[in-house]
Amino acid sequence: HIRSSYSRLLVASCISSGGLIVYAECNVDSNEKVVQKSRSDSGKKKIVVLGTGWAGTSFLKDMDISSYDIEVVSPRNYFAFTPLLPSVTCGTVEARSVVEPVRNIIKKRSGEIQFWEAECLKIDPENHKVLCHSLVENLVGENDFALEYDYLVVAVGAQVNTFNTSGVLEHCHFLKEVEDAQRIRRTVIDCFEKAVLPGLSEEERRTNLHFVIVGGGPTGVEFAAELHDFVHEDLVKLYPSVKDLVKITVIQSGDHILNTFDERISSFAEQKFQRDGIEVLTGCRVVSVSEHSVNMKVKSTGEYDVVPHGMVVWSTGVGTRPFVKDFMEQIGQGKRWILATDEWLRVTGCPDVYAIGDCATVDQRKIMEDISTIFEAADTDHSGTLTIEEFQDVLEDIIIRYPQVELYLKSNQLFEVTELFKDSEGNEREEVDIEGFKLALSHVDSQMKSLPATAQVAAQQGSYLASCFNRWEQCNAKPEGPRLFGSAGRHAFLPFRYRHLGQFAPLGGEQAAAELPGDWVSMGRSTQWLWYSVYASKQVSWRTRILVVWDWTRRYIFGRDSSRI
Ligand code: FAD
Repeated sequence: HIRSSYSRLLVASCISSGGLIVYAECNVDSNEKVVQKSRSDSGKKKIVVLGTGWAGTSFLKDMDISSYDIEVVSPRNYFAFTPLLPSVTCGTVEARSVVEPVRNIIKKRSGEIQFWEAECLKIDPENHKVLCHSLVENLVGENDFALEYDYLVVAVGAQVNTFNTSGVLEHCHFLKEVEDAQRIRRTVIDCFEKAVLPGLSEEERRTNLHFVIVGGGPTGVEFAAELHDFVHEDLVKLYPSVKDLVKITVIQSGDHILNTFDERISSFAEQKFQRDGIEVLTGCRVVSVSEHSVNMKVKSTGEYDVVPHGMVVWSTGVGTRPFVKDFMEQIGQGKRWILATDEWLRVTGCPDVYAIGDCATVDQRKIMEDISTIFEAADTDHSGTLTIEEFQDVLEDIIIRYPQVELYLKSNQLFEVTELFKDSEGNEREEVDIEGFKLALSHVDSQMKSLPATAQVAAQQGSYLASCFNRWEQCNAKPEGPRLFGSAGRHAFLPFRYRHLGQFAPLGGEQAAAELPGDWVSMGRSTQWLWYSVYASKQVSWRTRILVVWDWTRRYIFGRDSSRI
């Protein structure tokens, strides 16, 4: 209904009158009405931001809103501090302590940002419009509206990926949103209440108390650890008759859990889980899930195994939202699995649309093509070689544009590749062979992996994009300014550069592991205290900071609340 009305909406004219933004009601046919909000003619460019997660919120917090009209669309009128969601599943932290209303965030900005609680259903890049739908029930008026934009910032995150595994949508819990965490909390208590009912066999009680987590990444591991603490610190005291029947199992398709972390952390976590009695099944791929069992294939033997369960949490894989997929098809990215941007976070092939956070990735294939083009342009005499000085200039230029190339060169000692710089007799070459260098670099293609889908990347991208918009006017007025680099025709801003500040993996029992910059690894109780301080300091407001610290204290004094509300 919405899609059909939208195509007609696009030809309907937008009414605008002197000065301010106006609303026009477009009769697209006798039954269908869509409210249209035109572009501002206040002289300022209009930016529409989709999403109020890590990327969208950090963009809004850093934007100089005096220079733009900004409108924000999100189906949730709050920002959620996702790293604490596993703590919400067991009541270590309350749901309201990890969310901050978007209107509180934008109120603090000394200008006006408009917020619409709605979801975007379609992006129309040709006409610079987005079609939105309000999810508010019993609304007096129209739920659908269209917004025009000069620039669009897509920051809608990702959705759960079930890899089309049968039964996952029907029988698994996910851990993506605050509501998911609240649902898990209720179901855990439910499982205990079910298990103590009279008339059940021991086997049935065991099945009700078997918690299965599919996915041994940071979220799955953290949830398993939280659940273990909840069960052993609080629930066993309340349900003593079934305390020995509880089981937690983590199913991981790879060879180790936490396999994106340093090996030392991954084996520390495996040993800790073994001591805690958390079963870790590695090398197993789940093929289907039914109401009371998980069916999986053991990779090493090729055999199938059935695991009975009382509850399953599916914590693996991220997928693209349908309306983003539709947008990708419109702009010729239909064959990709995730929206591609250039290194300035502009959607490839779609000027004026930017994508940040989990919903997009920098297009690595294009980077390799661009690097080849830069070399070809530098090789003016088509000799296939560059002098050392020319080569260094080109390399400098490439590194400014593609910071990940520098990381790769350093980590693989490519700066010292002797064949490139010395001949077979060990004499310094005067010229560098371009093909030889490109060949060495081609391995970058596979190793310059996309950035991880983390809050850290999303927040840094949001800040970076805001700083580009903030400097836009200045750069236009003074294109020869200090930020311009390379030869004419290049972009005025430095590309996005990710700074990895480290990552944590809380492992329960007041222990955590951390991988910090400079290859520094830390594990144990002191790391848990580091985790507490970092996560308290990263809260978006003093309100949530105080609430979170109070929740930790409350849990320490009174334990977690096991009421099923
Ligand atoms: P999100 O934060 O998911 O925000 C997406 C926004 O888009 C939301 O506001 C949503 O309401 C909105 N939206 C959705 N659909 C639409 C639509 N149709 N129209 C308009 N708006 C829409 N990362 C870390 O770095 N460290 C951690 O410890 C960590 N722990 C995590 C724990 C859990 C349980 C989870 C789920 C994730 C964790 N992450 C962590 C990953 C991190 O949360 C994500 O990488 C981050 O949220 C991505 O930010 P984003 O802005 O791209 O998307």
